Amino acid sequence: ARQPAHPASKGPGLEGVKRVIAVSSGKGGVGKSTTAANLAIGLARLGLKIGLLDADVFGPSVPKLFALEEKPETSADGKSMIPLEKYGVKLMSIGFLVAQDQAVVWRGPMVMSAISQLLRDVTWGELDILVVDMPPGTGDVQLSLAQNASLSGAIVVSTPQDLALIDARRGINMFNQVNVPILGVFENMSYFLCPHCGGRTEIFAHGGAKAAAEQAGVPFLGEAPLDMAIREGSDAGRPVMAFAPESPQAAPYLALAEKVR
Ligand code: ADP
Repeated sequence: ARQPAHPASKGPGLEGVKRVIAVSSGKGGVGKSTTAANLAIGLARLGLKIGLLDADVFGPSVPKLFALEEKPETSADGKSMIPLEKYGVKLMSIGFLVAQDQAVVWRGPMVMSAISQLLRDVTWGELDILVVDMPPGTGDVQLSLAQNASLSGAIVVSTPQDLALIDARRGINMFNQVNVPILGVFENMSYFLCPHCGGRTEIFAHGGAKAAAEQAGVPFLGEAPLDMAIREGSDAGRPVMAFAPESPQAAPYLALAEKVR
């Protein structure tokens, strides 16, 4: 049965937020967080007011991607958290609140209430777009998040590999089920350009995400290569869009931002 995508209230923290866009993946390790971070920084570079919520409570990556170790402050009335800010993006992550090596071992309902607080009990202020880095997969948590986060659209990130694509299709189905429009599929780690010989290698095969998008009748949003600079930038807390926005490595993420804006 189809359920409404936008139940009742947005909650105080989301009042000034025009659109909430989820970045999701059927499985972990495909570059969902890398894509979400570069997309958010890219949108900010295009002049939009942007927030990024790291809702991947089991494996938060925003603290590392943005090299942030401080804790968010509480608002004057003590009711909400003030997001951190870097590269023009307002940031909130469970990773700001728990120690890095501390495992989150909560059950579903606790995870949901934590995500709901990160979404709503934060002074996001006026935002054109709040990008939500979803937990990977299509389980209960993801489904209720998709249903309750007032999402105006979702991007599904996948590698070109068969297995990843099956999971990507599950992701598309999940958003369809709760009537969240799919903005499209983005292929990450699409191909490898050898820095030594310049040759192109399609490590995880190629073009699969485009085919999956066509099959599902949703837009294809482009492809980013598997590239050393992308990985290094992320690990150093300076996503490629922040330290080399004009580089060929940043181009696919900027093009994605232009499609989403
Ligand atoms: P996910 O959020 O899907 O689990 P991440 O964004 O955390 O994936 O990426 C997993 C790892 O792969 C990280 O080390 C990241 O730096 C790296 N990575 C992601 N995208 C790329 C890319 N296009 N090229 C090279 N490394 C990448």
